[in-house]
Amino acid sequence: MVDVAESERASGSMSLGHDDVLRWIQAFAAAVDANKDQLTSLDAAIGDGDHGINMERGMSAVLVKVDAVGEDQDIGALLKTVGMTLVSTVGGAGGPLYGTLFLQMGTVLSGRAELSPDDWAAALDAAITGVQARGKAEPGDKTMIDALIPGRDALKAALAEGATFEQALRRSADAAGQGMRDTVPLVAKKGRASYLGERSAGHQDPGATSSHLLLEAAADAWGRP
Ligand code: ADP
Ligand code: MG
Repeated sequence: MVDVAESERASGSMSLGHDDVLRWIQAFAAAVDANKDQLTSLDAAIGDGDHGINMERGMSAVLVKVDAVGEDQDIGALLKTVGMTLVSTVGGAGGPLYGTLFLQMGTVLSGRAELSPDDWAAALDAAITGVQARGKAEPGDKTMIDALIPGRDALKAALAEGATFEQALRRSADAAGQGMRDTVPLVAKKGRASYLGERSAGHQDPGATSSHLLLEAAADAWGRP
């Protein structure tokens, strides 16, 4: 048993099930909770100081909801439940944008019992397309997509080079972290931070910071199955 799992992981053919996806969502909720104060203080510098509170409230509601629904959902339905819960419990820009992210992932994984590394790349594609359709942010506008896009691109590059899923997830999370840090000098072009104009430069974007947590949570949850 162990040998099969090991060789599947090494070949990158490993696929994840409902419970693995749930572990990622729980890991993200835990990371948001642990970093709530940091997210809030980053948002206090260039926004209205509610990003940590918004995300924590939303992910707490998600944990209650997915627990109530139980295992009787495919991966797509689970992700749609997460998205709908965020849309209905979180105000501001962050809630609808993260809601869209999970809803789009849920749509692309509709009816699926398993998720392969390539499916995860496709889910990130759909998430980014959805967030950009909704928020109209381009790379460099100092938003969450400045962490998501490098994270998605690094994942795809690693898989194309034949890296294991574990290695690809680590590179993805690291690239999202770099993208997050690279938001510091940027001038915000979208969201509340854009009201500050040039004064938004010199601060790390809160949404890019929470999106880095999202991809770190995937590396944590799935890198050590
Ligand atoms: P609000 O700005 O309404 O208070 P939050 O504080 O929860 O909402 O979220 C702020 C984050 O949302 C920003 O740091 C940024 O990353 C992200 N964001 C804001 N507007 C957009 C947009 N149009 N597209 C993508 N991301 C955005
Ligand atoms: Mg805010």
